[in-house]
Amino acid sequence: MARQSKKGKHRRRKRTRIDKRKLLLVVVCLFIVTFGLFKAFQAVSSGVSVAKENVDSLVTAVFGEGEDTSKVNKDKQFDLGEENTGEKKKYVVYIDVGHGGSDGGYKTKDGVYEKDIDLQISKLVSSRLSSQGDVSVMVSRNTDTALSNSERVEDANKQNADVFVSIHMTGNDDPTAEGVQTFYRVDANDGSDQLATLVQKSVAAYVDLKDREVTPFTFDVLKDNNMPAILIQCGFLSNPKEEKKLIDPEFQKDLAEGISQGILSYLDAQG
Ligand SMILES: [Zn+2]
Repeated sequence: MARQSKKGKHRRRKRTRIDKRKLLLVVVCLFIVTFGLFKAFQAVSSGVSVAKENVDSLVTAVFGEGEDTSKVNKDKQFDLGEENTGEKKKYVVYIDVGHGGSDGGYKTKDGVYEKDIDLQISKLVSSRLSSQGDVSVMVSRNTDTALSNSERVEDANKQNADVFVSIHMTGNDDPTAEGVQTFYRVDANDGSDQLATLVQKSVAAYVDLKDREVTPFTFDVLKDNNMPAILIQCGFLSNPKEEKKLIDPEFQKDLAEGISQGILSYLDAQG
């Protein structure tokens, strides 16, 4: 009995000692686990921020910084003194400004280049259309830069433009040749002929120019467009009487109004 009791006592003492060890072990384990978890958490969060930085730099590389994006958009618009909100409007009108840079277009005897008149008219059209709440305007150029026909078309296709309007003047050996004429791609069945008709009629109503009517003719810049596309020759710079009109700011305003109203009539008809 005494032995048993001693044994029991011993066992109890021993058990107590084991409990302390176990407790110590548990505490150490808990500390290790906690420390491990803390380190793991640190590693994961720094990993996440590294990953985020990587994603950010990838986004920057692909899409550019926010500022650069708006800069790209501004390159495609005239500075009309309005903030470009980047807001998606219902319609995108692409104004292709004729010629540019080393390509001056038609040059008059007194040194007026078509490219400059094209830019002036395009700016007025752009301004007029941009005042509509549901229309945003993109342009092929807003400075004196050279562009190939394919660059113009590819850009308009990339912008998902709803209509493409190329603005030009023209010239002829015959100084009495005159009038406004709108062209669309031969065999176009995408609405280009309706757009051409509406713009031609509207311009003829707004300004005093001979109506040369709409004409199917596949200019290179009308070939591969994914949207209704027209080219308007606003008049003959080779005709001194017409040149005088075409360089007059007041006449340009009426001309731009006529072009804009024609485009808007077409868009309205799309619903
Ligand atoms: Zn031209």
